[in-house]
Amino acid sequence: MSEVISIVVPSYNEEQSIPYFYEAILKERENFKSRQVELELVFVDDGSSDRTLSVVKALQEKDGLVHFVSFSRNFGKEAAIFAGLEHAGGDYVVVMDADLQDPPSYLMSMYQAVKEEGYDSVATRRVTRKGEPPIRSFFARMFYKLMNRISSTEIVDGARDYRLMTRQMCQAILQMREYNRFTKGIYGWVGFKTKWLEYENVNRVAGETKWSFWKLFQYSLEGIMAFSTVPLAIASWTGIIFCFIAAFFIVFIIVRKLLFGDPTSGWPSLACIIIFVGGVQLFCIGVLGQYLSKTYLETKKRPIYICKEEK
Ligand code: UDP
Ligand code: MG
Repeated sequence: MSEVISIVVPSYNEEQSIPYFYEAILKERENFKSRQVELELVFVDDGSSDRTLSVVKALQEKDGLVHFVSFSRNFGKEAAIFAGLEHAGGDYVVVMDADLQDPPSYLMSMYQAVKEEGYDSVATRRVTRKGEPPIRSFFARMFYKLMNRISSTEIVDGARDYRLMTRQMCQAILQMREYNRFTKGIYGWVGFKTKWLEYENVNRVAGETKWSFWKLFQYSLEGIMAFSTVPLAIASWTGIIFCFIAAFFIVFIIVRKLLFGDPTSGWPSLACIIIFVGGVQLFCIGVLGQYLSKTYLETKKRPIYICKEEK
């Protein structure tokens, strides 16, 4: 065989999905045989609490093209992707979810685009979000709008992590060893020529999603902080604007005193102003604190994941 495509599969409590996933990949293998391409699988067991690891091990024993990495605990999907990329040995690397929400039937056209059309990477985005709660879709859209306003790194709306890339691009991503990983931003940051495939949302084949609304919200804040420093600038601009407002009021009160006499009435408005400004100050310090905490974690240089077992 001349070429190998490594498929990285982050898996967290996916014992139900993996058998379906493997079946689907076996079908794709047949298609790729005619092109002299092998599909290698790299499962990353992200500290699952169900039988994911034993399911993967069973596959590994009967199939020489299956490898796995197992974490000592749950490190999150971003860490799982990183570990998978590190362990992938193929000429091309694909990142794909275990729940078949990323259709394996696209692999062939992705491969062709890289091989024949000269792209470095083929990425996918969902054009619909059907099957998702409307509030979630709304916030997701808002997030992408905001993100692209305040960050110079392009982050595509509806982009999935499902993507095929060349070894060169994979190596570039592995060079980014940051602890707070936001893969959607990292893909954009490393650049390279990317082709976008669009498809409709597919519901997961089995099991359930690991993302609660709150988790997604936190993830979006991580994304903003990892790829934009605009919130810091907003904090200082707010300060400047408040200084101007204060200067205006000082002049206003002096003039009013000179023209109309006693200015002491109006303490309720004063109390409101103090509380408001206090709130703004705390908010700005909070923004600062968020960046500082990220910096703090980065400077510790902790490993992105801890591997317990691999093969
Ligand atoms: N995943 C993971 N670690 C986690 C959460 C999720 O490796 O902490 C994996 C999960 O097994 C799946 C993929 O990431 O293969 C996407 O997760 P999920 O389907 O729950 O997210 P959704 O598709 O709903 O965005
Ligand atoms: Mg999913």
